[in-house]
Amino acid sequence: MYTERQGISHYSMAEEVKTANAPRKASRASASVRWRKRLRFARTRARELRMITKALLSTKHPVLVHIIPMRRCNLDCGYCNEYDDVSKPVPIEEMKRRLDYLANMGTSIITISGGEPLMHPELEEVIRHIRRRGMIAGMITNGFLLSKDRINGLNEAGLEHLQISIDCVNPDDVSKKSLKSLDSRLEWLSEFAVFQVNINSVLGSGVKHPQDALTIAHRAVELGFTSTVGIIHDHNGQLKPLDDDQIKIFEEIMTLGKRSFSRFNDFQHNVARAKEHTWRCRSGARYLYVCEDGLVHWCSQQRGYPGIPLAQYTPEMRAHEYLTDKFCGPRCTVSCVQQVAMLDNWRDPQTKKPMPMPPPSVANELVQIGGKN
Ligand code: SF4
Ligand code: SF4
Repeated sequence: MYTERQGISHYSMAEEVKTANAPRKASRASASVRWRKRLRFARTRARELRMITKALLSTKHPVLVHIIPMRRCNLDCGYCNEYDDVSKPVPIEEMKRRLDYLANMGTSIITISGGEPLMHPELEEVIRHIRRRGMIAGMITNGFLLSKDRINGLNEAGLEHLQISIDCVNPDDVSKKSLKSLDSRLEWLSEFAVFQVNINSVLGSGVKHPQDALTIAHRAVELGFTSTVGIIHDHNGQLKPLDDDQIKIFEEIMTLGKRSFSRFNDFQHNVARAKEHTWRCRSGARYLYVCEDGLVHWCSQQRGYPGIPLAQYTPEMRAHEYLTDKFCGPRCTVSCVQQVAMLDNWRDPQTKKPMPMPPPSVANELVQIGGKN
């Protein structure tokens, strides 16, 4: 089923005919692209090392911020609660103002998310502004709007990380984010992108063909990308252990994702086995989720709290959230916040309660991990 929104994308049906099962050959980037890719990788790694050092030396700044320039999406995945099909892009001057606030707080990494960020008409200027302000620039996208020109535009703008989540090998009525639909774009990324690309596949409740995750991960590695795997909850938001076959697939993909930061994080091994985990969620302080309205939230799955405009979000509020014990922590599946928390899990026990305002009413609506796109 193709909706009108999917009609916005810049690809032809002919490109979709290439199936995931056909014999594949990794795309070959030119010598110039390979050189630029190596250079950007080395520079980004150096900046990441500085980011880690700065984060270990001080707890007073955000390490990672997810920012939403556009709630609208060109797809309508059956499990998603993070998009609409009507909202307008946040004006570029407002985006820059928000990025300036974040830079002034000392933020290290900005990940642009959505909705679908590629629908924002001035996305490249958003990325340029992130880099101008000295922050690391990443993006989560469904990838459908990528074209060779758009990839070159993202190169020029200075993008450093891009993640695409692929749910299945063939599209179905829940998700169009299939390897079959996206494979040609992955080849373009392999050929033209000078930024790092990570492909996230999914396992867990409701995944009809778990073996697909392995096919997707192998394809990612074949094309020179990193690979991660996310585990989705059942529809009640509950952790459910993977069965033995899925555990094997999960462990194999975790091994494949050698270059990925998430390899160093064992919380997903707990999630895979539906074990609660002990950690200190520092959302609202070291991690912020800034929605399209410019409000700060704990994370994408706990939107509504604290719900304070970014311009009014003070260092004291961040300090409070840093020490706030999150009721949703033990069953949390939001991997990026878990990764950020590793920098502080060893220090500063959380003794405070959420600030005096209505707590989020959706404690059991945690749905997804590993980036939603
Ligand atoms: S869902 Fe996870 S990341 Fe979000 S506030 Fe709760 S513990 Fe933190
Ligand atoms: S999961 Fe991503 S691609 Fe799918 S509807 Fe949600 S925002 Fe759009």
